[in-house]
Amino acid sequence: MDLFAGPLAFDLPTCLAVVAIVFAFTFLRYVVISGTYYLVTYRWFREAFRPHKLNPRYPDRKQLLEELSLGTQNLVCFCAFAVLILWLHVEGHTLLYTDVARHGWAWLVLSVPCVLVVQDAYFYWTHRLLHWKPLMRWAHAPHHRFRNPSPFAAFAVHPLEGALEVGFRPLIVCLLPLHPAAIAVLLVATFVINAVGHGGIELFRAGWSRHPVLGLLSSATHHYVHHKYVTANFGLYFAWWDKLMGTEHPKMHEEFEAAAVRPSAAPAPAPLALAVRGSGSGRLFRA
Ligand SMILES: [Zn+2]
Ligand SMILES: [Zn+2]
Repeated sequence: MDLFAGPLAFDLPTCLAVVAIVFAFTFLRYVVISGTYYLVTYRWFREAFRPHKLNPRYPDRKQLLEELSLGTQNLVCFCAFAVLILWLHVEGHTLLYTDVARHGWAWLVLSVPCVLVVQDAYFYWTHRLLHWKPLMRWAHAPHHRFRNPSPFAAFAVHPLEGALEVGFRPLIVCLLPLHPAAIAVLLVATFVINAVGHGGIELFRAGWSRHPVLGLLSSATHHYVHHKYVTANFGLYFAWWDKLMGTEHPKMHEEFEAAAVRPSAAPAPAPLALAVRGSGSGRLFRA
């Protein structure tokens, strides 16, 4: 039985129900995941995580409220694109399915990393586009206002940037067969990565960023460096596009090592940490 082949219709009651569900879920996902990570690392266990904080300063209440405000406005995009996906599905353009037997368990599991790889490529190139000056000024600069972001910056983008990012969703549901279980895993996992990426606290062990395989995964440092230096590190889940296109910042590994997790007998190189881990303040477009 395939529920998606059932009675879904593109009418006002269904659209309103979809908007209500998507709004509630997306908002809860935002405040629960970003809020929990913030409370654990910035409040309850601040001293334990402090050595791994890439920027020694902690964002003030004003910044947190700005991030939350921008993040909440961004929810409009998610609702609008959910209605578009409903229309695409009712018209028979999506490859969504609920019967696991149709594509097998192997595909259900494999579809998760497949989407991550495709979304990472989509994000890298649209992110490069957002750094084109005219778009940067009015669509991407609001996100870069936060030079020292908190986990709440994960969603804090201008609605136009949000529309470009969420535009990935209608494309992927038409290109790849996706099961609701895979989508649920992706919705939670990707936001956890996003919140950790904006938390500015390095959770990986020393040496990770230079490892030939592990170093291909994005780290908290990877995105922190993007916010700090602006002109490098455009990837989302993986570092390979930055390595391939020469857009990885030259100080990426130094920044990483200064905050990485290491045995207590091997402290971070202090002079390096002092030299690199500055306040992060400065003008936009600073190289
Ligand atoms: Zn950017
Ligand atoms: Zn960011």
